[in-house]
Amino acid sequence: MLTYEEIVALEQKYLLNTYARYPLAIARGKGVYVYDVDGRRYLDFLSGLGVNALGHAHPRIVKAIRDQAAKVIHVSNLYYNEYQGLLAEKLCTKSGLDRAFFSNSGTEAIEGALKLVRAAGHATGGPEKCILIALENSFHGRTMGALALTGQAKYRQDFDPMLEGVRFVPRNDVEALRNAMDDKVCGIVLEPIQGEGGIQESSSEFLQACRQLADQHQAALIFDEIQCGLGRTGQLFAFQHFGVVPDVVCIAKPIAGGLPLGAFLAKERFAQHITPGKHGTTFGGGPLTCRVALEYLAILEDENLLEQVRRVGGYFSQKLRELVDKFDIAVEVRGVGAIQALQLTVPGKPVLEGALAKGLLINVTQDTVLRFLPPFLLQEKHVDRGMRILRRLIADAQKQEKAAARVAKRTAPAVA
Ligand SMILES: *Cc1c(COP(=O)(O)O)cnc(C)c1O
Repeated sequence: MLTYEEIVALEQKYLLNTYARYPLAIARGKGVYVYDVDGRRYLDFLSGLGVNALGHAHPRIVKAIRDQAAKVIHVSNLYYNEYQGLLAEKLCTKSGLDRAFFSNSGTEAIEGALKLVRAAGHATGGPEKCILIALENSFHGRTMGALALTGQAKYRQDFDPMLEGVRFVPRNDVEALRNAMDDKVCGIVLEPIQGEGGIQESSSEFLQACRQLADQHQAALIFDEIQCGLGRTGQLFAFQHFGVVPDVVCIAKPIAGGLPLGAFLAKERFAQHITPGKHGTTFGGGPLTCRVALEYLAILEDENLLEQVRRVGGYFSQKLRELVDKFDIAVEVRGVGAIQALQLTVPGKPVLEGALAKGLLINVTQDTVLRFLPPFLLQEKHVDRGMRILRRLIADAQKQEKAAARVAKRTAPAVA
């Protein structure tokens, strides 16, 4: 087996320089824990950025992969396979939407949804009906179409020109949305809870206004639930948490237990505009990923995991709020269930690095937001364990912040 240093050296020499990785090489995982190449254990409050919702090495997922791999892993979309229709049926039944398309990732689910609503727009309003509305501070993926919908300059710079016809409005600003809306709009795209944007929730009123304006202008309402969906809010779909049903919903991250699979589900009114030859993929919807996704959904039910997400998520919020009460640098708790954040007034990186050193995996987004996307298997005792580590690190960060402030005050030029 390679040592940590060997792994790092190889990647630094041969990989495209896309990732600023943390100093950890993971060798294996079990439940809510992962283990590095030296055998050290880490409590996982991040679950592979929301992918490993069932933790690691879930026995039923392992068995489904073993069984299916020995039968058939891939068949072309030129042919039928046993599991794609079953999975589509399950997702449509659970969501109330009508048809599914399977991709290999989140960003590809977004691309497919974009093509669908453009095709529907053209069919009902001519080529002019092509405008998309997206939110500022959003994140929809890294391919060119998804990037064009991503309202954060840092992801877009260097890659212009973007796809044409995207209008951005601030989240929860009904007035701005109303002003951006007209009959040329074919779709409104948003994350009900912005993930990468710092766990920022849409209000139900805003989502209702989106629904009403989309209907009024014959546009599609598209929810990107790639991060917040499939159980993370404690409901299978985040829109069930907010009580607003979209025309199209995009899902991906946890759906196939860590194997790459994404999907969008659409109402027939929009879905009908895609006919053979207009869209497709080589890998998406293969029998291995679809079978594992069926197993994922079955496990959520059999182990009553949505109930657990609601219960443990409530406990998690309560513990985060205690940090806000205790420390000046911790100012707000956001999110619900297994998608939560603690807003700091200082950069979160030192807390993240301290947590890693103490055996806890968390994430920082938007510089000052600690983001938590734990596996649904998390129990109260794991929350307690993680919070003990966080409490100490936030106390340290606060001490440093206060010391720095004292120095700054002392060395500041006297005001005349
Ligand atoms: C991760 C993510 C994507 C992109 O998914 P990939 O599988 O990385 O392409 C899109 N939207 C949201 C909200 C995400 O969190």
